[in-house]
Amino acid sequence: MATARVGVLGLQGDFAAHLEIFDALDLPARVIRRAGELDELDGLVVPGGESTTLSILLHANELYGPLRDFAGRGKLLGTCAGAILMARRIENPGGVEPLGILDMTVRRNGFGRQVDSFEDLLETSVELDGEGPPSGVFIRAPRITEVGEEVEVIASYHGEAVAVRRQGHMALTFHPEIRRDPRWHALWVKGLSPA
Ligand code: GLN
Repeated sequence: MATARVGVLGLQGDFAAHLEIFDALDLPARVIRRAGELDELDGLVVPGGESTTLSILLHANELYGPLRDFAGRGKLLGTCAGAILMARRIENPGGVEPLGILDMTVRRNGFGRQVDSFEDLLETSVELDGEGPPSGVFIRAPRITEVGEEVEVIASYHGEAVAVRRQGHMALTFHPEIRRDPRWHALWVKGLSPA
């Protein structure tokens, strides 16, 4: 199988940490900032950061249309703010336009403010490489409040979905890249189908 070609959206947020994860997986990723750069990709990470800022920058760079088109042939992995962008509905959008890739509803900052950020172990329903249950770092994280029937919940925290996927697209409300845990990225890469 050809090697998957992956990119990380580099408009805002902690994209550098995602690049390091792909380096650790021996799968170099490129930083993507323009629509034309999506052509050569199988998968794109939309990193965490601030969804309001990210949404403004997506508009400014005319990326909404191209990203929606890309999601029809390539796969997205969204973490935190990236997961918000991937949702179909946002309870409290505050100006954020979602991409609408996954049938789910999210509430921005659903776990509280910055001071309420936390790390804890997650329950998973998928096999992750390596040892031990994964730990989730939640930083002003969104809450997934509703998940469509066709969306699979692959990790939860106290019974609430915190990681979901459908047809190769994956959204995580926590930050594995901050924990330097490459297992979620590895799982997502397995679902990419290189041309
Ligand atoms: N609360 C942020 C937002 O609404 C997300 C925070 C994050 O990505 N760590 O975009």
